Parts: sequence; structure tokens; C-alpha cells
Amino acid sequence: MPSLLEVRDLDVRFPVGGGWLGRGRRWVRALDGVSVDVAPGEIVAVVGESGCGKTTLARSILGLVPPSAGSVRFRGAEVSGLDRKDMLAYRRAVQMVFQDPFDSLNPRRTVFGTLARSLRIHGIVPQAEMRAEVARLLDRVGLSPGVAFLDRYPHQFSGGQRQRIGIARALAVRPEVIVADEAVSALDISIRAQILSLMQRLRDELGVVWLFITHDLGVVRSVCDRVVVMYLGRVVEEGPTEALFRRPRHPYSTALINACPVPDPVLARALRTEPLGGDPPSPLSPPPGCRFHTRCPVARRVCAEQDPPLRVIGRDRRAACHFAEEAESWPMLAHLTEDTPA
Ligand code: SF4
Repeated sequence: MPSLLEVRDLDVRFPVGGGWLGRGRRWVRALDGVSVDVAPGEIVAVVGESGCGKTTLARSILGLVPPSAGSVRFRGAEVSGLDRKDMLAYRRAVQMVFQDPFDSLNPRRTVFGTLARSLRIHGIVPQAEMRAEVARLLDRVGLSPGVAFLDRYPHQFSGGQRQRIGIARALAVRPEVIVADEAVSALDISIRAQILSLMQRLRDELGVVWLFITHDLGVVRSVCDRVVVMYLGRVVEEGPTEALFRRPRHPYSTALINACPVPDPVLARALRTEPLGGDPPSPLSPPPGCRFHTRCPVARRVCAEQDPPLRVIGRDRRAACHFAEEAESWPMLAHLTEDTPA
């Protein structure tokens, strides 16, 4: 199936420091040759520790951060080359949901005021139909009956309800893609599950494609079709969610999976493994060779010398590890079997 969104070899650099006329300025390579495809009907997770570049990727896709190299294409058209009119249409087609819905909602505006503003800016419905349309949107995201919530303010809602309003605001302009940046990270575990199932329902009912950015690999398993794992500005592994969880091909993905909480304490004891040690290196001076070698439990001499390319490993899988084919023998994978519960 052709991609809806295609990110190709994307580089983003940010200047750091520097004195008069930029002397001594250094550059952080926040994204380094990142390629990601999102097909119609998919929910794709982008996962990694903070500072891995996942939020920069989201902001680049939205056109908020200019790329230093590479491209973002939507329905085959290069986003950076769009004229004003087409860029407005793109901004409508690709929406964002933020981590903290309280910060992203105007405290002085009612829910109706917030959602009606988006409808008005993009000319979605005539003024006379505005209240009915906003009530429909609230129903759609599970705030039902929507008409009862129209004149309330953000502080009158719980965190989960505010996130539903954030999603309703994104939906108001009838988008094709929603980028959700840590959209469930601030929520309690039960509310998180409800929001994740809402995302799935909106995909099934409206065909909305989700790019789900998160530091927590544990939350993606039940809802995402594909997972892209990032480390220090690069994609290090990508594949269908279940395949990646059951047989990860990069030690970093393995560490993220091992860090996922297991609800059953007996099982948790049986599966216990060493957590990933150390902090990620500074993106200002990433280590030579494989960027993960300073923390990798199975690194060998060649890892500090040669940078492993992201390569195809079996069907629908890519990994950037010299020894991806030997993953079955990694000690930190010993407890992951075909029967490991979801
Ligand atoms: Fe670890 Fe080497 Fe693979 Fe990098 S290339 S992830 S250091 S085994």
C-alpha cells in the first residue's frame, strides 16, 4: 500500500552556544538520516528515551522545524515546497495532540469556544451549526452527551477528559493524520487505556492515522501496528509490533521491552532482567561506531569502530546492529519466548 506520509533521510540540526557572529557555535544533530513511512489506516509508534529525537521528528512532520536535509512527503507532495494555500490544507490534514492538555487549552475559553475556533478558522461548518457540530465531536470522543459539556471550562474536567477535548479539537478539522506527542504519559493507567482504545476506535471508524510518540514501549503493544525505535537521533529498529516485542533485533529495543512493567508479580520475578545502565551519550558528541556501544550489554570490539547501517532483517523488519541475526543468543532475550504474555 502506498505511504500516506513518507519521511526520507531527514536531518535536523540545532545550533548550540557560540559567541559574536556565531563563533564557536556547535551543532546538535537531533535527527540523523531518519526514514519512516506511515500507511493509511495505521497506528505507528515512535519510541525512545527523552532526547532521542522523537519530538523533533513530530515537529518536523508538522512543518514546525525546518529540515537541514531530507524530506517529508504527504500524499507524494514535498511538504517544504507547499505554497501558502496547500500548507494550510496540510496543517488541517495533519494535526497534533499534546502531552499536557491543560497547558494546551485556553483556561478562559469554554470547550465550545475552543472547538468552535478551529471550526471557524478552517471554515468547516456554518456558524448556525457550530454548537451541534461541537456537541457531536464531544460525543465522538466519549464526552457524552456532548451538549452537557459545551459551556464548561478546562478546570472543570479531569486530566483524561481534557485529553479527550484535545483529541476532539484535533478531530474538528477532519484530519487524516494525528501526531500524538506523549499524549497518555501524564494520565493514570486506567485512563491511559481508555484513551488508547479511543485512538483505536477513531482509526477504525474515521480512518484517522496515528503517529504515536512515546518514551514508554509498554503502552504501544495493545494499539500500535508498527513500532519505530529511536536512539540518539537515529532509527535503530523498526517492525510490526508483535514481531518486535516477541523477537527484538536490537539490544536497545530489548532493554526497552525489559523495562515494561509486568502486572503479575510472580511473572515479573520470573522475567526480571538487568535494567539498561548509564545515560545516553551527549548528542553533541555521539560516540564513534555504533552509538549504542557505550551501553550495549553484547557489544564487541567492532561496535566501537564501525557504524552499523539500518538494514532489512527478515520480513518487514529493519535493525541497525552488526549482530541482529544473533539476537536469539543474547542473554537478555532468554526470558522472551513465543509464549511471553502481551
Ligand atoms: Fe550492540 Fe554492537 Fe549491535 Fe551496537 S552493533 S547494538 S554495540 S551489538
